[in-house]
Amino acid sequence: MSDPVEREEVSTNGTDATAKVTMATVWLDGCSGCHMSFLDIDERLLELAQHVDLVYSPLVDNKVFPDMVDVTLIEGAVSNEDDLNKIRKVRAHTRILVSLGDCAVTANVPGMRNPFSVESVLARAYIENAQRSQQIPNQVIPPLLPKSQPVHEIVPVDVFVPGCPPHRDAIYYVLTELVAGRTPEPQQFTRFGK
Ligand code: SF4
Repeated sequence: MSDPVEREEVSTNGTDATAKVTMATVWLDGCSGCHMSFLDIDERLLELAQHVDLVYSPLVDNKVFPDMVDVTLIEGAVSNEDDLNKIRKVRAHTRILVSLGDCAVTANVPGMRNPFSVESVLARAYIENAQRSQQIPNQVIPPLLPKSQPVHEIVPVDVFVPGCPPHRDAIYYVLTELVAGRTPEPQQFTRFGK
């Protein structure tokens, strides 16, 4: 992981040392629990907001990912074509990419379908278990990839924060370390599944 130091040099040697860190959060194939844990930071969000601008997220109105973001938190695995296109674009426009939660880190719950074919998964969901209108959708729903994959199998990831969801203290720790230009070591707060 290289960017925290690089970002610190930019902020201390650049033209605007007081500029806030820009941050985004992205929701791929997850349950939103990791975002809920982020919000569970509670009043410490106000403290973070003094140093961080949330520029793109399901939690804010901006629908266009900016040209470059300092830190992006990724919730969820890469499970369909929309996820794939999104994570590639986000990686290209992010300095520090954080896999947040077990779904992003290992594929976790979305990965439970991986022993089965896409066809059998869709048939199970839309035909065998459907009470009415049994048919597999071919519009609106993005096509599934053959497997649900963790983010780092698609693009390079800088920081891994396991947990389902990660504890709010772990998320707060990681963000404050990144804001300070340090490399976080979240394993002291986290373990898989907790
Ligand atoms: S890691 Fe857990 S809480 Fe986070 S998106 Fe996956 S299932 Fe939900």
